[in-house]
Amino acid sequence: MRAHEAGALHGDLGARGPAWLRTPADVNALLPNLWPHGVVRGDGGALQVGGVDVRDLAAEFGTPAYVLDETDFRSRCRDFRDAFAGAAVFYAAKAFCAKAVIRIVAEEGLNLDVCTGGELAVALTAGMPAERIKMHGNNKSMAELSRAADAGVGWIVVDSFDELERLTELARNRGVRQRVMVRVTVGVEAHTHEFIATAHEDQKFGFSLASGAAFDAVARIFHEGVLELAGLHSHIGSQIFDTSGFEVSARRVLSLQDAVRTELGVDLPELDLGGGFGIAYTSQDDPSTPGDLAGRMLKIVEQECAGRQLPVPHLSVEPGRALVGPAMFTLYEVGTVKDVDGIRTYVSIDGGMSDNIRTALYDASFSATLAGRASVAEPMLARVVGKHCEAGDVVVKDEFLPADVKPGDLIAVPGTGAYCRSMASNYNHVPRPPVIAVVDGAARVIVRRETENDLLALDVG
Ligand SMILES: *Cc1c(COP(=O)(O)O)cnc(C)c1O
Repeated sequence: MRAHEAGALHGDLGARGPAWLRTPADVNALLPNLWPHGVVRGDGGALQVGGVDVRDLAAEFGTPAYVLDETDFRSRCRDFRDAFAGAAVFYAAKAFCAKAVIRIVAEEGLNLDVCTGGELAVALTAGMPAERIKMHGNNKSMAELSRAADAGVGWIVVDSFDELERLTELARNRGVRQRVMVRVTVGVEAHTHEFIATAHEDQKFGFSLASGAAFDAVARIFHEGVLELAGLHSHIGSQIFDTSGFEVSARRVLSLQDAVRTELGVDLPELDLGGGFGIAYTSQDDPSTPGDLAGRMLKIVEQECAGRQLPVPHLSVEPGRALVGPAMFTLYEVGTVKDVDGIRTYVSIDGGMSDNIRTALYDASFSATLAGRASVAEPMLARVVGKHCEAGDVVVKDEFLPADVKPGDLIAVPGTGAYCRSMASNYNHVPRPPVIAVVDGAARVIVRRETENDLLALDVG
């Protein structure tokens, strides 16, 4: 969390907002970093995406709605694939998991990460070849492990000794040689601009490197001889801007690679350094390009391997947010505008924490713009809030919107492709919004809007 975020949700900013918001040069401007490439202001200043006016989207599909710029999403997939050409890129499905998106990922030549039976079911239904799927999770059930092994998934990432035992037994009973990776906890935690490297590793994922558990897991797999160990895996966090966290984690995980070679006489052929690459949510964020990331990460691994005289393993990375996050925005309609005298203006939209929990859950920052028209009115400091019965139901903590924002206006919030629809809830029995994909002037529903009847159907009395 950045300093300017701390406390921002709790009303201590006054009428002027945080320092970085004090020059609202043009409330109609779209910062290119924040929006899908296909978004521009068109007729009357209304946003257009892929050639479609958001007013038409709102009229046809209703609000709130998540809008995916399909061309933008494909180009992000391609940029990562090309940048990491010598390595493998896995899209982390948990960021947003829907058949249409997984089909695009498959078509663009990326592999896929899933972490539950549910995500696996979507992936297989969408036609992602099982051998391109990697399954994660710190508590996969026996049923999930069986389904994954039976489907023939390429890799299962082993996360605990309990699971190692279960998976060994399962593979032995079925006579299959399942390929696995060992998730290593390297004592590096990275979020946003900072990372912490510690000796102790107080979290639920993986086998501890420092305690020797990770080495023991590797040794046990070789001793049993039932599973095929492809390599080590590490994932250090999310929304990371600084590659120094990856540098420390690569160094540590390759020290284990070295120990495995020395003590067991084995060169593990693959290495997965996880995902977590940051995106821009506000003008403050300045993410690296895939080319920069790839260059730096490949160099770190090559240098470290050269220093230890290890063969360079085949590298994989697992971006989720960086692929789908910037490719989507959420379109809302304003319901009420309330000026809380001398403090700020509350703009209530027709969704909220049920379609975007990130602000309430992580104190995340988002931006917003008036979407259905441009305005020449003075900028006013606004907080975009939802319709839920919760004071913390905030979507955008601080944003300058034109002072003439009124009920019926459309508001768009960019950067909502990752961890918004996938974390959506039915709080207050609000049905979850649809996802609309737009490409070349045409819009189609890829996830339909939930209805009150859907919700009532679950409630069997
Ligand atoms: C969540 C997760 C990712 C993706 O993280 P992003 O921040 O969306 O890039 C990748 N790998 C693992 C193991 C994860 O848990």
